[in-house]
Amino acid sequence: MYCRKCGQEINEGTRFCPYCGCNLDLNNNDQSMNKGLDTATRIFFILAMAGSVLSSLMCSIFIIIGFIVPSLAGTMVGIMFIIYTVICLIPLCWLIPMYKYFIKCRRENIQISIAFKICTLIFVNVIAGILILIREE
Ligand SMILES: [Zn+2]
Repeated sequence: MYCRKCGQEINEGTRFCPYCGCNLDLNNNDQSMNKGLDTATRIFFILAMAGSVLSSLMCSIFIIIGFIVPSLAGTMVGIMFIIYTVICLIPLCWLIPMYKYFIKCRRENIQISIAFKICTLIFVNVIAGILILIREE
């Protein structure tokens, strides 16, 4: 038989393609379910990143309001919001690399390690973590 991903000829009954590592055990049903799960995981990754950017933007708006209406926000409050704006952006330091890694693994059909999945569950989004964990590798 031939690998459906890379097209190399491989022995009948092999579970993983020795050339590209593609899982050959999955039937078409599993494949489409995996595609759906991957898309959903991607959406929750994007939501996590958008959440970080949005909360940072919200803080920036408060800073701007503070400048326009100084009576509304004292210097301390202004400083607090500036600090919070930066803090909100910190998750992007791992969200963006993790998202890139996830996309790379899926595109090249690389198996994602359980450690990465657990990290997704904890540091990205609980739903993204569950989706990535239940996916058939
Ligand atoms: Zn292959």
